[in-house]
Amino acid sequence: MRGLPLPLAALVDQLSTLPGVGAKSALRMALNLISRPEEESKNLATSLSELHEKVGFCPECGSFSERGHCAICRDTRRDGALLCVVEQPVDVLMVERSGFGGSYHVLHGRLSPIDGIGPEQLTIAALEQRVAKGGVRELVLATSATIDGEATAYYLASAFASNPITISRIARGVPEGGELEYLDEFTLSRALEQRIPW
Ligand SMILES: [Zn+2]
Repeated sequence: MRGLPLPLAALVDQLSTLPGVGAKSALRMALNLISRPEEESKNLATSLSELHEKVGFCPECGSFSERGHCAICRDTRRDGALLCVVEQPVDVLMVERSGFGGSYHVLHGRLSPIDGIGPEQLTIAALEQRVAKGGVRELVLATSATIDGEATAYYLASAFASNPITISRIARGVPEGGELEYLDEFTLSRALEQRIPW
């Protein structure tokens, strides 16, 4: 960017690579940072530099964890026999908002043959080990409603079919407050298919 001191231009460049941040808002952020006390920028820099060092993944469920097992896996009040299988750690945060009281298994992706993502690239072997150890009563397949998400759910349902556990799929349907006219055909047909008795 012309006329901008190099360090500031470098910051604008880096900020603009973040999702949802265009060149204009990156510039606004950078100018805002330089107008504030130096200490605030240093605090932000510390958080950024410690991010990868301090945040990892839980060895049990694969969700975010500060060190060792995550808070959910350590919580003995939760139902460890009910596993909600999700694609990404962020999905855990979303399902948590629903008040779900079970545990999780994060796949770290979904099957996508076009992108070369097969079962080996996901944490399916770890899930098989968790089920084989016993103590799992139900797998709730909460992968996305995309074609790849559906294929992943189908794969998992088949892979675990011979186990004496319940396998369920989260119902897809009309979102709370959703007008039917705004729904795509697929969502609406699934909503009709999975209708529940009144
Ligand atoms: Zn965990």
